[in-house]
Amino acid sequence: MLTKAKNKKEIKKGIEFFMVSNKFIHRFVKACQVVFLTGNGLKAESVGGNIFNEEKLSLKEQRNNAPEKFWQRVLDARKQYQQLQPNLGHFALVDLENRFEDFTLITTAIDGIHRRAGNKNLIELKGNVFQNRCYNCGTVFNADLKNVKPVCPHCGSTDILPNVLQERQAPEESKLKQAQRVSAEAEIFVTAGFNDQNEDIKALPFIAKANGAYLLEMNQEKTEYSDAMNEMITGNPAKLLTAIVLILEKI
Ligand SMILES: [Zn+2]
Repeated sequence: MLTKAKNKKEIKKGIEFFMVSNKFIHRFVKACQVVFLTGNGLKAESVGGNIFNEEKLSLKEQRNNAPEKFWQRVLDARKQYQQLQPNLGHFALVDLENRFEDFTLITTAIDGIHRRAGNKNLIELKGNVFQNRCYNCGTVFNADLKNVKPVCPHCGSTDILPNVLQERQAPEESKLKQAQRVSAEAEIFVTAGFNDQNEDIKALPFIAKANGAYLLEMNQEKTEYSDAMNEMITGNPAKLLTAIVLILEKI
């Protein structure tokens, strides 16, 4: 996918400051179980000032207070998120998924971009703005961007909310357990543009390390996890991801 990318200059720029060790590359090419963990730092643009990221009330409280206004605001926010496009870093992660036998992408981003780019083995720890969840039967279903008031396709309930976590909410237990399991099994664990405040999510790289994984961090600047990593590369995570794919293609 990257080889078809038009913007070769952008990729070249990424390689210039890509200083990953041979030790990492050797372990990476031989690995079977690989986990990447991404956050909002992977994308260049972000969507701010909407119902998903700037509200003091919970989504449930807002819905119960004024359902029609709530669903209209949700629809407006979803349309904003729809404008975001995957970048080369997102496509690099699709290439990586195709390359490794056992590849899992964990993300704290709610924008659904990894799914749109084409990643399949994906754990969206904080949900996806393009999905709804039924609180009567638990069904998660794709949102209809034309229909303002959703109804559960499984049980007909209108006790529906967007399938996203707000800042102070803990991740869903089944997703967290899945993320903890793949982290514990990982041989290589890479974070890209990841920086999160939730204690359970913050623990994932440490679970991987405690179980013998080699840890690499790609971020714009040092984070509180950097010292615990085997390696840390400072730079634009999207460009660093494209560089890593190009290096693998040359081996
Ligand atoms: Zn239902």
